[in-house]
Amino acid sequence: MARPLNVLFLSSEVEPFAKTGGLADVSGALPQSIKHLDHEIRVMMPRYGSINERRSKLHDMIRLKDIEVPMGTGDHLVSVKSSFLANNHIKVQVYFLDNPKLFGRTGLYIHPDTKKEYKDNDERFALFGRGVLEVLKKMGWQPDIIHCNDWPTGLVPAYLKTVYNNDPFYKDTRTVFTIHNMAYQGVFPKSRFPMTQLPEEVLSEDGIEANGNMNFLKSGLIYADALTTVSEKYAEEIRSNDEFGFGLQHIAEKRRNDLTGILNGIDYGVWDPSIDEHIPHKYDFRTLDMKLDNKRALLERMKLPVRDGVPLIGIISRLVDQKGFDLIDEALDALMKLNLQIVVLGTGEKKYHEMFSKAAKKFPDRIGVELSFNEQLAHLIEAGSDMFLMPSRYEPCGLNQIYSLRYGTVPVVRATGGLDDTIDDYDPSSGSGTGFKFEKYGSGEMVKAIQRALKVYADDNAWKKIIKNGMGKDFSWEASAKKYIQLYRSLSRK
Ligand code: ADP
Repeated sequence: MARPLNVLFLSSEVEPFAKTGGLADVSGALPQSIKHLDHEIRVMMPRYGSINERRSKLHDMIRLKDIEVPMGTGDHLVSVKSSFLANNHIKVQVYFLDNPKLFGRTGLYIHPDTKKEYKDNDERFALFGRGVLEVLKKMGWQPDIIHCNDWPTGLVPAYLKTVYNNDPFYKDTRTVFTIHNMAYQGVFPKSRFPMTQLPEEVLSEDGIEANGNMNFLKSGLIYADALTTVSEKYAEEIRSNDEFGFGLQHIAEKRRNDLTGILNGIDYGVWDPSIDEHIPHKYDFRTLDMKLDNKRALLERMKLPVRDGVPLIGIISRLVDQKGFDLIDEALDALMKLNLQIVVLGTGEKKYHEMFSKAAKKFPDRIGVELSFNEQLAHLIEAGSDMFLMPSRYEPCGLNQIYSLRYGTVPVVRATGGLDDTIDDYDPSSGSGTGFKFEKYGSGEMVKAIQRALKVYADDNAWKKIIKNGMGKDFSWEASAKKYIQLYRSLSRK
């Protein structure tokens, strides 16, 4: 049998320690699946101020204290704390890179009050990247693969290909860079480049420079040994179209032979209504009636009247342009002419906060809105809604539509990226399909898809069928974890 691989998984957010979006779900689950397949995988992330030492069971690593990391702004000292990811009976070690000055803040990337990005995000994540490589050497643990995720880890492949190129410790280490969202690139002024201490030639159009700026995502795209993204459709979209590539599509296209789409999985230990501790009434397909009790609880929680036979549409999302909520704004009056109620949970841009608050005020018995980040309410919305709406402009993978399938909550989605790959459009003649899709980005198209869903909802048997189709789907991590391992193996010397 081939030897197990040593893999270091790098991420700026990992559930349950720190989360702003789907990257955290992936980082909390995929490593456990890889470990389950008998490889040695460890996770490393920054130690943010918001991570509670006691609740997260953080321990100091005595041998890894005050390690010097050379930076253009003077040497920085980092220390390492450790804890575990430990659901599903698999224990994965998580290391937290600690530098109180740069990471000891509540926000991950953004100041929680001003909502502005931290001005020194370049320094923070350059320190993270270089710090990781220094820490590994002190630790004496040689990974075969360093699996980097998104722009905060983008400099790691560049450091390995330049500063550490002749370092015997890293001679067998290869990198994988996963793009979870091409729009977030970590763009900083060129004048800040000396701080990274990367060699000068790296700051060029062949390196990490893009449009006169330093671009961390581009660094990952250029220097990593292999690239992946989180659905097959998105892998195609980002290399063929600027709307999805955000100025870097030519790089993705150039590296098309090194770029694969591997769909995200779901942690059914967390997202399954038959064992979900966050919902008042657990259920499965045989006890679907209990879903109705969750719906009542949800409507009460959102201060909406309970109306028999009126379908409830759920939305849980970061409130940003990507997610397509301008379509809801445009279609609000048309939607309110239909027989439905809507609940929304989200935080993000001010204009969407205002838009949804206004809509809830105008239609207080039809629309319920909570503008916060609330894990428990997210589970209740999955359990209590009849349909789940994701009208995204683009969606690398999307997780909530997959959670929805398992909760018997029928997705209505725009056919882009992972939404297109995971949802099959319902066909009334054969009864096949798991949701409702619309192709063109437009409010009229979205309303039509919702109308199609309402028509099927009115037919009990047909609705049960579509729910059954969805609840029976299996998007667990194992299949995707095997694909990652295959990729690691193809790069590794072992
Ligand atoms: P993205 O990564 O673009 O935000 P995904 O669909 O991949 O989108 O993942 C979003 C994750 O974040 C899901 O687990 C979703 O439930 C969660 N989420 C988003 N907004 C909120 C919120 N306001 N409260 C609780 N969970 C949220």
